[in-house]
Amino acid sequence: MTAAVYGGRAKCLQRLVRLELPVPTTIALSFDTVRDIARGHLPDMAKVMAPFDQKQLLSVRPSSQDPDWGGPGAILNIGMNDARHAEMIDQIGEAAATTIYLRFIQAYAVHVARLDPDEFYLPDTPDAASLKAMRETYEVETDEPFPQDPAKQLGDVLRSMARAWDGTTARLLREAKGAPKDAGLGLVVQAMAMGVGVGECGSGVIQYADSVTGLPQITGRYLRQSQGREALRAQKDAIYLTKDSRGASLEETYPAVFAELVACGDLCRRKLREEMQVEFTLENGALHILDAVRIQRSSRASVQIAVALAQDQIIPREEAVMRVEPAALSELLHRQIDPSAARDLIVRGIAASPGAAAGRIVLTAAEAQASAARGEACVLVRRETTPEDIRGMHAAQAVLTMRGGVTSHAAVIGRGLGVPCVVGASDLVIDRKAGQITAPDGRIFSVGDVITVDGTTGQILVGEPPMREAALDDAFRTLLEWADDARDIGVRANADTPADAQTARNFAAEGIGLCRTEHMFFEGDRLGVMREMIFAEGGDDRAAVLDRLLPMQRADFRALFEIMEGQPVCVRLFDPPLHEFLPSDKAGLRDLAAQLAEPLSEVTARVNALREYNPMLGMRGVRLGIAIPEIYDMQARAIFEALAAVRAKGIDVVVEIMVPLVSAMREVELVKARVDGVANAVMAETKSRFTYRLGVMVETPRAALRAHDIAAHAQFLSFGTNDLTQMTYGLSRDDAGRFMSAYVQQGVYAEDPFHTFDVDGVGELVALGAERGRQGRKDVIISICGEHGGSRVAIEFCREHGFDYVSCSPFRVPVARLTAAQLALREGFERR
Ligand code: PEP
Ligand code: MG
Repeated sequence: MTAAVYGGRAKCLQRLVRLELPVPTTIALSFDTVRDIARGHLPDMAKVMAPFDQKQLLSVRPSSQDPDWGGPGAILNIGMNDARHAEMIDQIGEAAATTIYLRFIQAYAVHVARLDPDEFYLPDTPDAASLKAMRETYEVETDEPFPQDPAKQLGDVLRSMARAWDGTTARLLREAKGAPKDAGLGLVVQAMAMGVGVGECGSGVIQYADSVTGLPQITGRYLRQSQGREALRAQKDAIYLTKDSRGASLEETYPAVFAELVACGDLCRRKLREEMQVEFTLENGALHILDAVRIQRSSRASVQIAVALAQDQIIPREEAVMRVEPAALSELLHRQIDPSAARDLIVRGIAASPGAAAGRIVLTAAEAQASAARGEACVLVRRETTPEDIRGMHAAQAVLTMRGGVTSHAAVIGRGLGVPCVVGASDLVIDRKAGQITAPDGRIFSVGDVITVDGTTGQILVGEPPMREAALDDAFRTLLEWADDARDIGVRANADTPADAQTARNFAAEGIGLCRTEHMFFEGDRLGVMREMIFAEGGDDRAAVLDRLLPMQRADFRALFEIMEGQPVCVRLFDPPLHEFLPSDKAGLRDLAAQLAEPLSEVTARVNALREYNPMLGMRGVRLGIAIPEIYDMQARAIFEALAAVRAKGIDVVVEIMVPLVSAMREVELVKARVDGVANAVMAETKSRFTYRLGVMVETPRAALRAHDIAAHAQFLSFGTNDLTQMTYGLSRDDAGRFMSAYVQQGVYAEDPFHTFDVDGVGELVALGAERGRQGRKDVIISICGEHGGSRVAIEFCREHGFDYVSCSPFRVPVARLTAAQLALREGFERR
């Protein structure tokens, strides 16, 4: 029996039987059988029921391939009818027998006949009158007597469960958890062990590890005279399992049963190689094990459990590495708001996906995508989300909705993506037309204003309070160390600031794969100096401004080099879309005029003259480096002086200088000659010797096509798949969001190529570029540093083409390390 044919629950029950645990008679129906049942073809019911004693009541439970994909709820006590009721009254008393009958009618009415649950509540006193009343309600609602034939009852239960699996909500929910479209459902039919009756009867649930932390801990409840999972729902009367100062426990009341349960947990852990939650029943004092499922677990617990199982030598380390879903790590990785930070509350909602993130307000998925394409953090604010919003949710740092609960679309998808999410903030008013949201206290926030979503507490805050980096425990580090042992491709981080670099280091990135130096100039007074530089007239003016920028850059690089000690740091020379540095409104122009001490009209005219129709294809990257070489000279000097300074302190780093937006070999030749010149000058001035690598960012199609002659001057080639995607598709990074949904919905593109690496098109160009690059220089270092870098698709591609490393945002580094390890291990398993 395999989980791929009968489902995980069926497979697990088979193992429990083999372990000789006291499991009642059980049969399993395969995915195919259940698909036939959903289409109306019931199996031979006599055969299905043959293994069971005629008088035995039955239960049916779902058995999906992965238990996390869910399924319809269990239905118990099938086979209960008037005759059985009468017999049971003699055996276990009227109250117990009637309770069972009432429960069955209730479950059948609600889940099989799909009647209104409000009409079928369980009475406080289970007697003949309440039974009669419930049966009458059933008959009035269905125009039929309550079915008496156990085979018909069972057939109807099987059919209703099979069809429930095909429902839209069930499908969307499981697909959000990673189930494939054609995921099947198995069903498990089991003889009931009665938790209701004479002697010590009851049911309970036990688990042996904590669902939040994953640490060993027995939790659960036991409830006398109960069935199924009632003990967990019971407000009162349910007793603890282990000794507890708050009340009675199974350990004290039935030590032998408790010991048997503990032994069962131990056996399951060792033999099923998992932390299980076990459903059990006591029937007249005898223990029955009805079911065992993997415990529900937080991401943190999933790491802890996998590592502990490997450390206890129950599973090999490689298996522990394979068991943790890389995406789940992101939940552990998110920043939290610093507990000591002041909180300016806008509104409170339901905490639906943990972690905190800040960004500018956007009100549509398209705006979110456009914002992401501009590299701007955003928070997607919606009344509620629908599947059309998924791409926008991908693009957003956080999601906030007015409607919905913890299982709403936004919440389920948010958790799946690891995006902080707050739902059900119903006190918020959204005015999409005006581009505003209004807080309960009347404050108005507009599109573009920065807010913070705290998905851990459900709070929405003004601005961006200080954050605390994710808490990474020993198990997390251990798992990733094991992943690193298995991994065969490097993982670096894209980091522009010392804070980013520190995060990268904390996550054990193997260096910086991309430091976008223009990002260093957006802050505070630097923007002003930068503008002066852009506006400088003549070489002398520019040289004076560059002299002011030099120490700032040197300090930036020193900080980066110190943090990244011993590792490579790839600094990309200035790659500005110049318009980003120009003022866009009147006030900005006035400020600039004042700063430059020039007339407003003059400054406005020059800004207009600098504006480009297509700035992303304009004066960017190396084009600026060729047209105004002093800028790259200054940067090279800052890099080398910083290198000389840290080396004097005994700190070594491997400096890499990357030339952006190259399209011709001569560009590299020219830049290299000047950079070499600066290096020699700094070595002479500082009386030191150092080496560095000069390389090229391959992000224009022509650079990929001409990679062989470019590589002659470049020690490394790093594929910038953001621009390369833009230019391969002829698709604006900034504007594609407007029509991307329509394109994806109509199947023009399978996915947004800025989000999912396009292996077929862009990939072909990258593969060709890598191959030609190696023709030009045998030992050229090859990598990828676009936003795709940390994704599974890109890592798979890069491994396949023998890349040296991928570089991705610091928070994706652990995910990339684990993904790369899993791909390497899977390949190893397949080869064996
Ligand atoms: C790229 O184009 O892929 C890249 C990494 O550079 P940027 O996003 O800064 O243009
Ligand atoms: Mg680029």
